[in-house]
Amino acid sequence: MKYLHNVTSLQLSLRKCTGCGTCIDVCPHRVFSIEGRKAVILDRDRCMECGACAMNCPSGALSVDKGVGCAAALINSMITGGEPTCGCEKSGADGCC
Ligand code: SF4
Ligand code: SF4
Repeated sequence: MKYLHNVTSLQLSLRKCTGCGTCIDVCPHRVFSIEGRKAVILDRDRCMECGACAMNCPSGALSVDKGVGCAAALINSMITGGEPTCGCEKSGADGCC
């Protein structure tokens, strides 16, 4: 499953990555692979910003803004059946980002 194109906040630092493979084990959407003893992002549009990879990466090579932005809005919409919203309207923004 893919979400919105190129909206995920997922970031990977190859300098910090040790190639342990934990991100592959915990990611529910098969976003990662290992190539040349480093993690690579196969398809960032599969990322649902759940935060599991960043939470479990032992070297701090991954970061993601868990549950924010349009990816979160789409997920919320699928779960609730309502209009996509990430809650940004509560901050006074004009419509959902
Ligand atoms: S969990 Fe972190 S250190 Fe391990 S392969 Fe993934 S990005 Fe690299
Ligand atoms: S945030 Fe979740 S879906 Fe996105 S890459 Fe990390 S584990 Fe996979």
